[in-house]
Amino acid sequence: MSDNMSKVDHAIEMLKSSGVRITPQRHAILEYLVFSDSHPTADEIYKALEHKFPNMSVATVYNNLRVFKKTGLVKELTYGDASSRFDFSTKRHYHVICSNCGKIVDFFYPVLDEVEALAAQVTGFKVDHHRLEIYGVCPECQAKEVDAPSKPKQESSIS
Ligand SMILES: [Zn+2]
Ligand SMILES: [Zn+2]
Repeated sequence: MSDNMSKVDHAIEMLKSSGVRITPQRHAILEYLVFSDSHPTADEIYKALEHKFPNMSVATVYNNLRVFKKTGLVKELTYGDASSRFDFSTKRHYHVICSNCGKIVDFFYPVLDEVEALAAQVTGFKVDHHRLEIYGVCPECQAKEVDAPSKPKQESSIS
């Protein structure tokens, strides 16, 4: 936890040094991003913080996320049709994505530099980055899949 707090402090320092003014909302959004490892959407961040900042709108959250993104603190993830998710990333990692509920989990694996080198060699491109996404069904969705058919539907009418 103190590790996360220092991450927040470090990020705040970085924002300040790039000339970004730290408002209480900005601080709260950043803190939420650091502490949640769920890659939240702007809407999720808004819902989690709206009780603290009744005057804040989803647009405000978006604008703040865009500021963070510009400084390189936060990455915007666009996978498929779902709305953008935001990732506070200090370390390079890959994503494992649930094709059922859309949950994204971080997966740390040595960066596949070899693939880039090979691609450059084979195609003559000047390769600068690559994307790798792994898809499957998350443990929670697997549990639901197992539960669903065996649960008797009439139970609720008895109680
Ligand atoms: Zn899932
Ligand atoms: Zn991530």
